[in-house]
Amino acid sequence: MKNLITGGAGFIGSHLIKKLLNDKQKVICIDNFSTGSEKNIEKFFSNPSFKFFKQDITKSFDYEVQQIWHLACPASPKYYLKNPIKTSNINFNGTLNVLELAKKYNAKVLFTSSSEIYGDPLKCPQDENYKGSLNPTGIRSCYSEGKRIAESLSFDYMRLHNIDIKIARIFNTYGPNMNEKDGRVISNFISAGIRNENLKIFGDGNQTRSFCYIDDLIEGLVKLMKSSYNNPINLGNPKEEYQINDIADLIISKTKSMAKKIYYPISEDDPKKRQPLIDRANKLLKWYPSTGINEGLDFTIEHFKKINL
Ligand code: UDP
Repeated sequence: MKNLITGGAGFIGSHLIKKLLNDKQKVICIDNFSTGSEKNIEKFFSNPSFKFFKQDITKSFDYEVQQIWHLACPASPKYYLKNPIKTSNINFNGTLNVLELAKKYNAKVLFTSSSEIYGDPLKCPQDENYKGSLNPTGIRSCYSEGKRIAESLSFDYMRLHNIDIKIARIFNTYGPNMNEKDGRVISNFISAGIRNENLKIFGDGNQTRSFCYIDDLIEGLVKLMKSSYNNPINLGNPKEEYQINDIADLIISKTKSMAKKIYYPISEDDPKKRQPLIDRANKLLKWYPSTGINEGLDFTIEHFKKINL
């Protein structure tokens, strides 16, 4: 099987490449290194089944493949807010380019959407039929509305051009290869903990996120691509929902840190609660994330210690 992974040099992409190469598949990775890093993929360069092209997803490209995993988009608020117009452009024109390629070669497409499409949810947990509570003019909207228009486009290509579409709505995911500078809560707290620097909590720290370990997510993505299911599907770990304060305490203790928690104002539209309902993935994909936060954080802290913060 010939695969194209857009945004393959990022955190999720690099784990996906490893999995597909282990499964003896061919992988073409495109990335412009805007947030992804060559370090994440250099170990694959010597593998004859792997090819890399530096490519901006909003510019046209042409690779003959059977499966496209469309991941390209800055995913951390710190980066997607840096150039919000570019973020919207990536989601619309980048996805359009991917879908045109799928049309040309009759390739399957798996689009990595996000729990952000539920906005600051009024319903908890969030199932796939929940329409969300979004602010189309808020600062996060370039990403949340961007992911929504990309889902719309994908469905229109499925309806009009018969493209086989898969949509994964990914909830907070963590693990080795996270960019230590991308501002996500787990990577920030681990970096700070190891350095004995205070952990910055935005707001009162009572907001929640559900944390899924990367290996579980990759298994879910692979199962989704293999399935014949086309409607959006949540991938996240509902059992591992924690308040940000509790994650901070756990990481301080695990890194044996002298750091303290310090509180800063929260940014606009930061969701207060986030927890996926994953009955659909359980039933249709037989997918059950199994890595608990303790084990997952241990693997992640080990990785961060190795890269010598
Ligand atoms: N957060 C925090 N300190 C940090 C980074 C993030 O308190 O150093 C908070 C952030 O405000 C949010 C939650 O942790 O409420 C998760 O943030 P992240 O950027 O990891 O993910 P997202 O908001 O996209 O779910």
